[in-house]
Amino acid sequence: MGGNPKVKFGTGQHDYDLICIGAGIGGLAASALIAKEGLKVLTLEFFTGKP
Ligand SMILES: Cc1cc2nc3c(=O)[nH]c(=O)nc-3n(C[C@H](O)[C@H](O)[C@H](O)COP(=O)(O)OP(=O)(O)OC[C@H]3O[C@@H](n4cnc5c(N)ncnc54)[C@H](O)[C@@H]3O)c2cc1C
Repeated sequence: MGGNPKVKFGTGQHDYDLICIGAGIGGLAASALIAKEGLKVLTLEFFTGKP
């Protein structure tokens, strides 16, 4: 364990300082604050927009 989480999708491997699960108001606010501090954040949301 340790180090940054590595996520592989698309064409390559990506390094993030933090992965946020859920893009509700809490997740989006936290992600925005973290990104504003210069850290790389991946925000994941499973809602497709289709009920
Ligand atoms: C019917 C209703 C009306 C409301 N009206 C108001 C209002 O008028 N004013 C007010 O201030 N508050 C209102 N609220 C409360 C407000 O919606 C919540 O307090 C607020 O949305 C909580 O934010 P959150 O980010 O913690 O969670 P959420 O908004 O629930 O966000 C969590 C997100 O995580 C996603 N998620 C969950 N599990 C996963 C997973 N495994 N992988 C990926 N994504 C995942 C969900 O799809 C969701 O988008 C209302 C709530 C309800 C249910």
